[in-house]
Amino acid sequence: MRVIEMEARSALVKSGLGGVDYVVNPYTGCRFGCAYCYATFMSRYVSEPVEEWGEYVYVKRNVVELFERELARMRPERRTRSIFISSVTDPYQGAEAKYRLTRGVLEALAREQYPGSVAVLTKSPMLLRDIDLFRELPDFEAGLTVTSGEDEISRWLEVHAPPPRRRIEALRALNEAGIRTYAFVGPLVPHFVERSELLEDLFARLAEAGVRRVYVEHLNAKGYIRKRLDAVVAKQPELVRAAYAEARTREHRARLEQIVSELIERHGMELRLGAVIDHPESETRRRP
Ligand code: SF4
Repeated sequence: MRVIEMEARSALVKSGLGGVDYVVNPYTGCRFGCAYCYATFMSRYVSEPVEEWGEYVYVKRNVVELFERELARMRPERRTRSIFISSVTDPYQGAEAKYRLTRGVLEALAREQYPGSVAVLTKSPMLLRDIDLFRELPDFEAGLTVTSGEDEISRWLEVHAPPPRRRIEALRALNEAGIRTYAFVGPLVPHFVERSELLEDLFARLAEAGVRRVYVEHLNAKGYIRKRLDAVVAKQPELVRAAYAEARTREHRARLEQIVSELIERHGMELRLGAVIDHPESETRRRP
């Protein structure tokens, strides 16, 4: 694992994500190295091979300073805009314990009492360190990505990320601390279709931890993502391999959506964006 310090040129970046105005990514690269990660395209900005995603992290050591400056320059009418931390890295991966860049960005927002919505999304319970700042932000939400209630299932997809059970415990702790939370269930693991009891278990655990708002996303099967994922899935049992091959069909996705919709209703949750997030460009294959 390589950690490389660098100087960034900007911190607050306009976002192409639906419902998000700006993103802040204090790091380039991500130690968690998930097999399904869509952010691997960032490797070309730091001239690293895609295959080594998860093996390096570029630390933007001046990101807090840049962010403070950009925030100070933000016109008053823009201060209602939403800020998301982070879109192409995990803001609470291991390097954050030392560099505290995510914390620095949140401190700046708390100092300014930034009135727009601010959200973080991570796979790490390290975010609990910043509860003091979350409390100070007027419109704040903390999210954890949880792809499975069973550690063994996600282990081969998210090799270096903290186990899902710890993420669910972090959600519980945030809820108990009175912080507004959400869970990001994505990507939906394709073999949930064959083993829907696993998805039921995940939703039951989330509900039990006090989660009321969820985003749910289908697997993004774009070519560059599939290339990495296929190599991991190839080592899995036949059932899993077949489910991943099917995952690009509309029929498969419709079945997953049906299961999700029943679970959302059963647990009285809010499905954010009103639907499972999909990636139309990956839905190119129909079942023969
Ligand atoms: S935690 Fe997020 S950014 Fe990091 S490797 Fe996994 S999917 Fe990619």
